[in-house]
Amino acid sequence: MTQSLHNRTFRVGSNDYTIEMVNGLVRRHDLAGQVGYDDNVIKIDDALCKSRMHEVMVHELTHAMFEEAGYADDDKIGSEDEVNRLGKVLHGMLRDNDFGFIRGEDRGRPAEILDAFLQDIDTHLRATPDPLPYIRETMWRYWAYKEGMEHVDE
Ligand SMILES: [Zn+2]
Repeated sequence: MTQSLHNRTFRVGSNDYTIEMVNGLVRRHDLAGQVGYDDNVIKIDDALCKSRMHEVMVHELTHAMFEEAGYADDDKIGSEDEVNRLGKVLHGMLRDNDFGFIRGEDRGRPAEILDAFLQDIDTHLRATPDPLPYIRETMWRYWAYKEGMEHVDE
């Protein structure tokens, strides 16, 4: 349970935050989670149940959102109470809806994307005596696109 979150990174604004599962955070510091803006590490107690762990993760990411939005020194916006309320709603919203479609929004419509990949394969077929590695690579990129993975555009 704990390994699935450990070392995961989340981009908030222009910073990447890394999750670090920590033993005894609640016991020693009475904290379920903590976000650091110097090392961009989000520490979460590894003894929490899965739903609480995820809620704490979203809570700390909500703190990070206020930080990245420039509210770091604002004592009126981004209070613990606001982060708490927003974090709980955000956790439920992210869990109970599928946002996968958003990932591909800057890559054009699916049919156009498929056409572009097929064009690529066609070019390889015509230009190379041994097109198989190129076709394999192109199909791998298409699969990665379909899965919404990040390295699809390189
Ligand atoms: Zn907090």
